[in-house]
Amino acid sequence: MTKGSIDDCNTRHAQGGIAAAIGIKDSPELHYKDTISAGAGLCDEEAVRILTDEAPDRIADLVKFGVPFDTFNGEIALTREAAHSMPRILHAGGDATGAQIETTLSGQIRYAQIPVLEHCLATRIILEKGAVSGVETFDTLTGGVQSFECRNLILATGGAGQLFKFTTNPEVATGDGVALAFRAGAEIMDMEFFQFHPTALHLPGVEPFLISEAVRGEGGILRNIKGEAFMKGYTPQAELAPRDIVARAIVSEMGKTGADHVFIDVTHQPAKFTAARFPQIYQYCLKHGLDMAKDMIPVAPAAHYMIGGIRVNTWGETSLKGLYTAGEAACTGVHGANRLASNSLLEVLVFGKRIVERSVEKGQPEKSGPDKNVRSSVKREPAQAGAPLPGRSALQQLLWENAGIVRSGAGLTRASAILAGWQECLAEPQDRPSWELLNLVITGRLMTESALMRLESRGAHYRTDHPQRSDDWLKHIILTKE
Ligand SMILES: Cc1cc2nc3c(=O)[nH]c(=O)nc-3n(C[C@H](O)[C@H](O)[C@H](O)COP(=O)(O)OP(=O)(O)OC[C@H]3O[C@@H](n4cnc5c(N)ncnc54)[C@H](O)[C@@H]3O)c2cc1C
Repeated sequence: MTKGSIDDCNTRHAQGGIAAAIGIKDSPELHYKDTISAGAGLCDEEAVRILTDEAPDRIADLVKFGVPFDTFNGEIALTREAAHSMPRILHAGGDATGAQIETTLSGQIRYAQIPVLEHCLATRIILEKGAVSGVETFDTLTGGVQSFECRNLILATGGAGQLFKFTTNPEVATGDGVALAFRAGAEIMDMEFFQFHPTALHLPGVEPFLISEAVRGEGGILRNIKGEAFMKGYTPQAELAPRDIVARAIVSEMGKTGADHVFIDVTHQPAKFTAARFPQIYQYCLKHGLDMAKDMIPVAPAAHYMIGGIRVNTWGETSLKGLYTAGEAACTGVHGANRLASNSLLEVLVFGKRIVERSVEKGQPEKSGPDKNVRSSVKREPAQAGAPLPGRSALQQLLWENAGIVRSGAGLTRASAILAGWQECLAEPQDRPSWELLNLVITGRLMTESALMRLESRGAHYRTDHPQRSDDWLKHIILTKE
């Protein structure tokens, strides 16, 4: 089931690539070390071991399914991205890796005639005796409400970039899975860690479009509006430092120069190389009047990846019997406090496969077949109009200002109190926008409450009132409804 069309998802937008230790000089051990080091002390070591060990096999699966990874001299081409010690990023269609993977896999789904319900929004997890027994859905085309029985429910609802005013995520990324699972009683972990991508295209009236990490990996230089390269002044890793460090350096540089952007400069690269290596980004910039071969590209940070999520073990099992979660909605612990670039597509594959294995092992539902699964189909009566409601943009502005790249106790307290008030006055949702707003409010509360609790700065979570990392906080924050 998916709430929009099958290809309306974050996956389709992934650009740079997918990490796996398949290079001759590389090894799962090195990939493990890089992932642990990026995670700032909070990675789950067992989960990272599984991620990095199983990566080459999952890449082989993708090749078998037909994903056309880019090659060089007959071998799969590998590039390097920030905080990876080796070139180990596979890409497809240049910078269209996600689109190539998504198109190939949805093609396989069609070929295998797996039934797909599009425009079908999951709104509630149904429980019986503490275990999952089904899911309630809302048909966004007809307004009908349906219930489906199941023994195993796998949430793969993606991220929540729509919490913020500036985001690289599409409209569908509204934290639905986290809110659904939380309302059903599942454990939610690490929500204070939200990754901001340092470089999204920043042009008035244009959606923030991701300028991939790989652009810096291939020699792109960050310059302030005076044209000065500034990254070396912040860290010896310069442009290849982890995302949180680069994002905060950009914010600081924007503050110093009074500008709302900096530039990424690849004008020193041959035009042919840039156009071939980054065809999607190159064309997008060109469409907006910027030629990467000649012009510096204005960029600013934008919300990018939800590191926390529904807490799962290494088999994707949540704290609720029968509920599994994969991908960005899940918190496997592989990213710790900061995701290493290109590990997220990999996480979906590795743990998605493990969920399939585990749920098959635990048995198929007794009843099967799409018709038998439908329990009811009724239209819900409209609820009484409640108090004037906050809109999505007010929520995005609130969280951008108070729970964004640089946070403080005062701002988080304010945001948290406002969200709690909004949740109180939200009426029973009637359509997709109102369901998504409820999910954003719940997910936003989980994020701000966790960020308020963590009295330190670590990885993607930075507080001006607690700027240091503290060993007292080498632990996770887990929230439940209780
Ligand atoms: C611009 C961009 C570039 C990126 N680049 C990279 C990269 O180079 N490498 C990398 O590893 N990662 C990258 N990422 C991150 C990566 O793409 C995502 O983390 C990953 O694709 C998430 O996959 P997913 O299956 O969990 O979620 P998604 O691909 O987002 O799929 C979630 C699906 O669930 C559906 N859904 C949501 N809520 C409901 C509901 N209530 N009912 C029914 N359906 C629902 C959505 O409509 C969507 O179809 C990038 C992300 C973005 C936005």
